[in-house]
Amino acid sequence: MTITYEYEGALYVNLTNRCNCNCEFCLRHGKKEGSIYTEDSLWLEREPTRQEALDSFLSRDVCSYREIVFCGYGEPTYRIDDIVWLVDQLKERFGDKLPPVRINTNGHANLIQGRDVVPDLKGRIDTLSISLNANTAAEYVALCHPVQGEAAYQAMLDFAKEAKDYVPHVVFTVVDKGTAPEEIEESRRIADSLGVKLRVRSYIDS
Ligand code: SF4
Repeated sequence: MTITYEYEGALYVNLTNRCNCNCEFCLRHGKKEGSIYTEDSLWLEREPTRQEALDSFLSRDVCSYREIVFCGYGEPTYRIDDIVWLVDQLKERFGDKLPPVRINTNGHANLIQGRDVVPDLKGRIDTLSISLNANTAAEYVALCHPVQGEAAYQAMLDFAKEAKDYVPHVVFTVVDKGTAPEEIEESRRIADSLGVKLRVRSYIDS
């Protein structure tokens, strides 16, 4: 079972395969050559406990990485309480030497947890990379198929807006596959209106 893995100098963490979405482009749908996600081992036979995840961290030279990224084959914020615990454990051991911590997320943590988790991120998470993916709720549902329907789109925008007060770097991402320049511009306008940066990423990326 792969819990932590290296990719381009960063340490990635895979805590769950659960997700409330079923994005058309999700790398869980198939193997994409050249992607870190071609690893079958990223499919977890069961979710690791927080202690197993910590042991996986501690088996590595944690401070040698440029970043720690909670990502994985699924939506990491299903395990937000464990992420918080893990970061606290690592900070206790490594203090200021701990590399910056990022969560790659669909921005639905509050929907998933049924509470406002954003304040828990303060002082723990340095970067939130949130998949914007679409410029309207209808497009979002057509692309990402969240179980919560169109409400998930606004929830994601609200999450990003709130997170700016707790997390130093909040970034929206859009995938460049087949995305027209005017759509990117509209995404940029949405990001600007919320005071969030936009990153256009390739189909296969981190
Ligand atoms: S949110 Fe991420 S893990 Fe979930 S279906 Fe979409 S791409 Fe896959």
